[in-house]
Order: sequence, then C-alpha cells, then structure tokens
Amino acid sequence: MANEQNALDIINDPKNRVTDTADAEAGENRNDAGEPGGEKKGVSRRNFLKFGGVAAAAATMAGAAGAGFAVGRSDDAYTGYGRTYQGGDQFFNREPFRCDVPVMMEPVGKVERPEWTEYLFLRLRALVDIIKSGKWTPDMGVEALPGPVGDHYRARPGELEIMLETLKRNVKRAEAWKKDKNKRYALAGAYNMALRLGGMELPGHVQRIPEDPHDEHMRTGKPIPPEDWDFRGIWREKPLEFKSPKHASVLIKRVAHQFGMSLVGITKFDPRFMFKGLMRGMPDKGHYTWGDKVPEHWKSIIIFGVPMNWDGTYSAIGYSTSFDAYFRSRCAASLMERFIRELGYPARAQFPGSNYEIMMSPYVQLAGLGQYSRAGVVMVPELGSNFRPAAIVTNIEFEYDKPIDVKMADFCKKCKICAEQCPSGAISFDDEPQTVVRGFKRWKLNEEKCYQQWASGPTQDGLGCRVCIGVCPYSRKNTWIHAISREAEPRDPTGLVSQGLLTMQKNFFKFHEAEDYRSDWDGGKEASYHNPPWWMRPENFLEIEKDWEYHGME
Ligand code: SF4
Ligand code: SF4
Repeated sequence: MANEQNALDIINDPKNRVTDTADAEAGENRNDAGEPGGEKKGVSRRNFLKFGGVAAAAATMAGAAGAGFAVGRSDDAYTGYGRTYQGGDQFFNREPFRCDVPVMMEPVGKVERPEWTEYLFLRLRALVDIIKSGKWTPDMGVEALPGPVGDHYRARPGELEIMLETLKRNVKRAEAWKKDKNKRYALAGAYNMALRLGGMELPGHVQRIPEDPHDEHMRTGKPIPPEDWDFRGIWREKPLEFKSPKHASVLIKRVAHQFGMSLVGITKFDPRFMFKGLMRGMPDKGHYTWGDKVPEHWKSIIIFGVPMNWDGTYSAIGYSTSFDAYFRSRCAASLMERFIRELGYPARAQFPGSNYEIMMSPYVQLAGLGQYSRAGVVMVPELGSNFRPAAIVTNIEFEYDKPIDVKMADFCKKCKICAEQCPSGAISFDDEPQTVVRGFKRWKLNEEKCYQQWASGPTQDGLGCRVCIGVCPYSRKNTWIHAISREAEPRDPTGLVSQGLLTMQKNFFKFHEAEDYRSDWDGGKEASYHNPPWWMRPENFLEIEKDWEYHGME
C-alpha cells in the first residue's frame, strides 16, 4: 500500500489531474442510461417469472431443489475438501465429453502470444513504479505513458482511467479499514492475511513458498535463467525412467491428490499461452530482457488446484479470500516441483498470486479440467468457477488429457446471472461470445473494471469480490440435486433441463442490485450474496458491539 500511496500523491497533485469527474470521485460505473453498476441489459430477474411454459416442470424441480438446498447446508456436501487424498473429489466422468479443441479455443484469427502486460498484477505494479519514478504523471496523457504498459493502455481506450481511479480506491479503502473495518471484518480479514502473509508472501517478498527465482535475483543481483533454476537440486545422473507416458500420468495425478489437490489434469506445453517477455529470475522479471524465448525443456504442464473455502465464497465480498485456495495450490506446487526434481527431471512451479510465466485458463481447458465461461474464468464440473489452479512445467513425457465440452458455454448463453450481478459491469451480456482475444472468440472480462470492484471492497487488502462465483449455478455444493444437474444438463439436447435449473436459480435465491454490494465508504450497503459463515462473524466471538446489519441470505 505504501507504494500506491506514493503513486497516489503524484496522481492527486492538482497539476497532474487528468480529469476531475464527480462520477469518478463517487466511484461509480454508469451505463448509457446513467444508472450505477455498469451495463444492465436483457431479461431482468423481476421480469423472469413472466415467461411461461415451464411452470409444471419448475414446480416439480422446485420441490427437489428445496430438499437439495436443505441438504446443501450440511458441511458433508463440500466438494474439494474431504476425499481429495484418494482422488475422490475429481469424480466427474469426463470421458463422454472429450473433444479435440476446447470450447472458445478454435482460432478465428491470428493466434498471438500474450504480452506480459496482459497480466493484471504485473502491469499494475509496473504502472505504480512508473508513477513513483516521476517519469509520468496523468496530466501527460496516455500517449506519453512509457514502455510496454503505455503500449497496453494505448491499445485499450479508457482502461487507464479506470486503473488510475482504482489506485485511489485502494488508498481510500485502506483508510476506511484502519478507521473501523477491523471491527466488522476482523475475523474475515485475519483469515485472509494469515494465508497471504503467513504463506503466500512473507513480508518484504524475500522468501515465499515455493522458493522463487525472482526473490533470489533480488537478493543476489545475479540473473537466474530457467536452464539453471528448473534443474536445481537434481542429484541423479539420469532421471528415473517411467514404464510409459501413461504410467507417468497415473503416478503424478495420484501424487497431486496426495498433496491435497482436488483436481489434476496434464497437457502438452503450448507456447501460444506463455507470456512474451516474462521470465522470473531474470532482471526485472524479464519484462524487458527475456524476449520471445521459450525454454527448450518446457514440454508438459501439470495443472492442479483446489476450491476456495465454500462459506466465505458463498457470502462473497468481504468474507471470502482467494488466498485460501492460492495458499494450498502453491504449497502443492512447491511439493510437486521438489518431487519431480527428485525423480531427476526439471520442474518449474507456476503458482498464484503473481508468479506465472504462462496463462492458466487455456491450460486448464487443454488439460480437460473445465471450460471457459461468460465470467471470463474456467469452470470445472465439480466446482464451477470456484477453482484456483497452480501448475508445474517439466519435460516428462505424459499421456495427455483431452479437453472436454460439457455444454457450459450453452448454459452461459441463457444464464447471464453473473453479468446481472457483477457490481462493476465487468462481465459481458453478449448472447454469444464475440470478442476475439489473441485469435480466439470468447467472452472477455473487463479486468480493469473487475479490479476496481476489488479495490472498493471492505477488507484491508481489498483483494476480491467473487460475487460471480458465489451466484453461478455451477458453483454449487455437491448435493444430490447438484449431482443430477451436473450429469443431466450436458446430455439434454432439448435445453429444458438448463431452462428449469435457471428458473430455480433465479427464483430461489436472493439477488441484490449491483450498488448494494459497494462498501459503505463507497455509498453501498456492504451486501453479501449470503451472510458470512458463523465463524467469520466477530460478534459471535469477540467483545465487540455489533452496529451493522448483514444484507444477505442465511
Ligand atoms: S453465472 Fe451463468 S452465465 Fe455466469 S458463468 Fe455461471 S453459468 Fe455462466
Ligand atoms: S469478481 Fe466481482 S467485479 Fe469481478 S467479475 Fe466477478 S462479480 Fe464482477
């Protein structure tokens, strides 16, 4: 935050003001009609009941859903926590749905590798550093913004303004947190920071789990190319040979489950999804020095991951933390990196939050774990979009998994709940995926708007919103009604099952207006989709006067 405070001092200097809009100060995104909360189009929830024709089916399914909803309140319905060590949390049979090309990954144009600036957190840091260095101030305009970050924003009109406004919100939120938020969110914030500072990033960023070549480069000043880092600690003269690629896959998947990972898939390394110009361990993380090189020993990628804690995620905004799952998937990445090197093979962990050289979403698809959604993230059958992956790059020859198509994209075309509920208007309402992103047509999340919503959150680091995950019909607990839906929906050619499921979802659950989700310092009610879990309510444990209301479903 200190970094951002310094950058903010520069942004706020009157002589550096690029705009002075009241809307920006109020922190509101407005649609064409001037309504807060971004674009709102299509069939509203309130009008949804006016559509007839499914009443009888809906009534039957409503009874079933009611029972399923009740069962879903039991902790036993968690997915991704209880049976992982035996591989029991990866239970969806993907074989009938294997396909050759992942959904929304059929090229429609020239496929280009991502620039490192497409990595939100790296471009954020780079922007803050540029402002702090005094090389650029907002009054100079986007044309003068130097380096690749300038190229990025010049190609995306309007997004720089959103990011500058977000930097201001980050500082406002930090002030609000210090003032009174560590009362209402004391437990939620402590849980978040325990995972973040206790395991994700030790203070000063000097040592992390797993070890990071960037940290070593910072300590020693010596560049560490992957030809060095990835082979470190290998003591065998020759790697142990697997009986076959299939044997290698079976072993590594079992070990990933043993390391606590709910889901695992393996795919071939594909350089199209490796950031250009980015290599941790090289000067400036390689932003300026690495170029287009692809290490020759990068042949295969093992993808694995876990869900975030259900209770907090279901509440969303304020009570949830991505660090929950980030922590566990990056710990597993550390263990797997070491395990593979012990067998005599190079291994390089790719792990959250800012330690990737590759894009995760395409690889999660290619490894057959899930598919793209409207919300711009990959959903998996077992957990919906509540899945946080890490990966290992290696040269082991595996039997690779094929992608799957379980018709999630078809469901997304009708559903749009995440787009309606997204407080920032970051999710597309387009009926069909139609943004071409580096050669692929898909729904595209507006990252700048999404991150701005995070910055508007109530907890101390503002990392998160996740309303889109909490409200998504795919991100349900593993009750019998969810199990039936998961199996029946992709096999139903009529679309009636998905229509019935949507009717239930839109009428059984309480949804807020977008502005309700805003923090009180930002003019909102601090609504949650559901109320926080009992163990995140400070009034249940602390001598604390509760002077707020919860605005969610029990
Ligand atoms: S909420 Fe609906 S539209 Fe959004 S990702 Fe989930 S299924 Fe798709
Ligand atoms: S995290 Fe929040 S702001 Fe971002 S896309 Fe999801 S609902 Fe929208």
